[in-house]
Amino acid sequence: MKIGDLTVEPVYDGVMKMPATAFQGTTEQLWAPHKRFLDADGRLEFALGGFLVRAPGDRIVLVDAGIGDRSGEIRNGTGFFRGGELLSSLARLHVRPEDVTDVVFTHLHFDHIGWATRDGVMTFPNATYQCDERDWQHFREDERVQPVLGPIADRLSTWSSSGPLGPGIDAMSAPGHTPGSTILVLSSGAARAMLLGDVIHCPVELLDDEWSGMGDVDPELAKRTRNALAREIEGTDVPVAAAHFPGMVFGRLLSAQGRRSWVVE
Ligand SMILES: [Zn+2]
Repeated sequence: MKIGDLTVEPVYDGVMKMPATAFQGTTEQLWAPHKRFLDADGRLEFALGGFLVRAPGDRIVLVDAGIGDRSGEIRNGTGFFRGGELLSSLARLHVRPEDVTDVVFTHLHFDHIGWATRDGVMTFPNATYQCDERDWQHFREDERVQPVLGPIADRLSTWSSSGPLGPGIDAMSAPGHTPGSTILVLSSGAARAMLLGDVIHCPVELLDDEWSGMGDVDPELAKRTRNALAREIEGTDVPVAAAHFPGMVFGRLLSAQGRRSWVVE
């Protein structure tokens, strides 16, 4: 995907599957018109991974760092996750860990920071690591975050409001899923695209304001943030993608006769 002078490519780490009704308050009936977002078994399929953004000034930016080299069961064995492929996915894009200049976390849930370090050492030794200060304060002692980011805390820098992170890359605060959840806005000239972090897990959340999210720290705020995002991108030509969309594809939110629809790029 090209956005003017920037390119953005998915960096696949693995997959996670769970029952569709893992979305709070949803039923099989509610999912019936949205089967296209489910796999052949009727389960939700989530990609795991991040995005590689090549930006002016030879910046090679990794947005989120996958779940890491791990796998396991979730939701009492009704689902599973499996990571482990992020570095080989980067290699396929001809990027070595030492080539990465920036690692930017949309938020600090464990499935977005997995490859940040290995045995307490930075996986991307020449990169600056950045996240929102509010997420750092919220998660720094978390049992799944501290072992990964604690050892490199002195190398982690934070931002505390919306603003530029680098050429063509801006942080847009989108709190609710986590206190410091951030959407990354990529822009070049008139072209724009967005990486949504976990503000949206599945495009179905953009279609209906009442649809609930997953694992939100503040569900009410997360809902307001999602609804504001949907209104902002509805009917525009701004492609959006999130790390958990199956295939990590970009799509656009169309609007006709008061109904929203999701179209993959
Ligand atoms: Zn996630």
